[in-house]
Amino acid sequence: MILPINTYSDEVLRRKAKPLKGPDIQLEELVGNMFESMRNAEGIGLAAPQVGVSLRVLVVDISVADGYEGASPLVVINPHLLGVKGFSSMEEGCLSIPEVRGEVVRPSAIQLKYRDEHFEEHIGEFDRLTARVLQHEIDHLDGMLFVDRMQRRNRRKIQRELDAITRGEISTGYPVAAHEAYDEAK
Ligand SMILES: [Zn+2]
Repeated sequence: MILPINTYSDEVLRRKAKPLKGPDIQLEELVGNMFESMRNAEGIGLAAPQVGVSLRVLVVDISVADGYEGASPLVVINPHLLGVKGFSSMEEGCLSIPEVRGEVVRPSAIQLKYRDEHFEEHIGEFDRLTARVLQHEIDHLDGMLFVDRMQRRNRRKIQRELDAITRGEISTGYPVAAHEAYDEAK
């Protein structure tokens, strides 16, 4: 089932998501729906809060990106960053912030402890685009968006676009969640 995606200024995107205590039948359904919603929106990563579920679950599939055709999809539950290496700057986008892109500096490689969809624990090392997408999605679990990590002067350039999304002026090729009423006085 394709789930509507929450967009910038929706409260659920700013909440710290809760860890999962164990696998259950709803997890399988959630993960399936997240992959379907992500692919429908032509995304390469999606975190559960983006579909309104405040749990520490994320999915990644970068096999649509040039040069990554062989990459396997990833289900990451309760991720815990063990270590990072290097730094790189890369342009990011986000299904929750349609049509906005910006350069973000992040570690270029990470070591991650996480559980898969069967709740089995793994320790993995990731680099290049995989490390980038994982860190972007892990940020979502902590209520953080890529625009928060942009340099202030670059962030200023996109403020009007963010304001427009806040007002509900969004056009996407995928369903978005109904916006909470926008209060001009806020
Ligand atoms: Zn995102």
